[in-house]
Amino acid sequence: MKSKKDMEMVRELADLLGAQIAGTRPLIETGFINAKKQIGLSGRTVKPKLIITLGISGAVQFTAGMNGSERIFAINTDPNASIFDVAHYGIVGDIYEIIPQLIEDIKGSGAQACII
Ligand SMILES: Cc1cc2nc3c(=O)[nH]c(=O)nc-3n(C[C@H](O)[C@H](O)[C@H](O)COP(=O)(O)OP(=O)(O)OC[C@H]3O[C@@H](n4cnc5c(N)ncnc54)[C@H](O)[C@@H]3O)c2cc1C
Repeated sequence: MKSKKDMEMVRELADLLGAQIAGTRPLIETGFINAKKQIGLSGRTVKPKLIITLGISGAVQFTAGMNGSERIFAINTDPNASIFDVAHYGIVGDIYEIIPQLIEDIKGSGAQACII
C-alpha cells in the first residue's frame, strides 16, 4: 500500500467478502493497520478458509503465520515472488488494477457476503 487512503479499496473488498484485514510487518510499522493484525513469526498464526495476499513478497517470517490456510490466493507484480511458492492461486499483476476490478466483478455478480 502506497498510502493509508489506499486501504479504503482493501476495506471495500474485505467488506464485500465478509473478510478481515491483516498484514505484514512493514504495513504495521507504517501504522496502516493495528499491530494486533500482524501475521507471522512475531505476529499471529491464521488458518482461514481463504487468504488473499495483496502485494506481499512471501518472506518466511510472514508465510510461517499463514501457510496453513485452506486456500491461498496471491497477487503480486513480481512473477518470482516467494508467495507464489505457497499460493494455490495467483495473479501476476498490479493490485491497483486488480483490486478495483475484483470489487466491480463481485458487485456485478450480485454475490452475497460470506464469512471466511
Ligand atoms: C526476526 C524477524 C521477525 C519478523 N516477523 C515478521 C512477521 O511476523 N510478519 C511479517 O510479515 N514480517 C516479519 N518480518 C519481516 C519479513 O522478513 C519481511 O520483511 C516482511 O514480511 C515483508 O513484508 P511485505 O511482503 O509486505 O513487503 P516486501 O518484502 O517489501 O514486498 C512487497 C511486495 O509487493 C510487491 N508489489 C509492490 N507493488 C505492488 C503492486 N502495485 N501490485 C502488486 N504487488 C506489488 C512486490 O513485488 C513485493 O513482492 C520479520 C523479520 C525478522 C528479521
